[in-house]
Amino acid sequence: MDLANCSLPPFISDDCLEPWKLIGSGGFGKIYKAKHKKWGMDVAIKLLHSTDGSNSSLLQEADLMRHGGNPNVLRILGIYKSQDQKDKSAFQMGLVMEYMERGSLMDLQLALKECPPWPLAFRIINQIALGMNFLHQLDPPLLHLDLKPSNVLLDDSLNAKLTDFGLAKISKSTSKSIEENDRDAAGTTSYMPPEAFHSTQYLPDFACDVYSYGILVWSVITGKQPYVDNFSSLVRFRVREGDRPDTSCIEKSQADGLSRIIDLMQKCWDHNSKIRPTFIECIEITNNVYEMHKQHVPDAVHTILKKLDNKDNLSSSFASLSINPQTKNGLKKQNDSSVKTSTQE
Ligand code: ATP
Repeated sequence: MDLANCSLPPFISDDCLEPWKLIGSGGFGKIYKAKHKKWGMDVAIKLLHSTDGSNSSLLQEADLMRHGGNPNVLRILGIYKSQDQKDKSAFQMGLVMEYMERGSLMDLQLALKECPPWPLAFRIINQIALGMNFLHQLDPPLLHLDLKPSNVLLDDSLNAKLTDFGLAKISKSTSKSIEENDRDAAGTTSYMPPEAFHSTQYLPDFACDVYSYGILVWSVITGKQPYVDNFSSLVRFRVREGDRPDTSCIEKSQADGLSRIIDLMQKCWDHNSKIRPTFIECIEITNNVYEMHKQHVPDAVHTILKKLDNKDNLSSSFASLSINPQTKNGLKKQNDSSVKTSTQE
């Protein structure tokens, strides 16, 4: 990447951020919540596992994600940079992002263990299509290439925003095969299209994201994860042979418009990538269905937030881990008796 041509967001140092609290972890590194003292707002910081040579991919992710400006795409607010306490020549780097109060769609699914109420499910499905379409309409277009529930974040009103462009590539300059991407950053196999498993020379395109969207829609309306009990190699084999997640458990008459969403989902995961719809077409259908249920969204959100808050209250005695920003890697506990800690990382 030509970093000279990137208009990167500002660097943010340790003295602006406190207190740090671990909220999640993924392939790239750990995610913390902190307050930005000057901005007076909570932010999420994605720290890298190490600084050795990974910084350019971090800066690339920052460059790609600075394309905020769409309500359904997460914005990067800055780049965290702090001198390593042990090795003064090294820097700990991270991405400073909008903090999303309700975590990811995956977190919601794990908490509910079922589909959210239909009005909310249809809004989430529509908002993901809106965010994806925004990325595909950029000039040059941006492919996400890692669309899955843990990369859909939810704000305090359960509105969805796309995140994690760790695998994203500017479409016209894509040079890696998806197999290489899979090795690099563990893109989730269940959300990858069959054509990705046929050839090592496969170059991902728009239809790849549309396929992932189809699987994601299935996950939203069933509240389940696809092929959960299978190894990645078996999923590759089955998907290549034409298998898809089980639709027999979905009762089409449960909600008005659900059958249109199921039709769309099946078109999105069609074996033939050429006949998969574009996200513009996905928006049209999902928006129509969402409109039919829109008036019931506030009630649905209220019900779910109440459920989640009850669960949070129950588990608050096992609450989070808070850390001193200077000891992030060692995860030393703070000497603050008001902060509950656990041994869980
Ligand atoms: P991978 O990136 O390796 O595929 P992942 O998507 O689960 O895995 P991350 O993007 O690092 O990993 O996110 C891990 C978890 O951290 C998310 O599932 C979510 O719960 C939380 N998280 C990530 N970003 C934010 C954010 N901006 N605001 C609030 N919580 C976040």
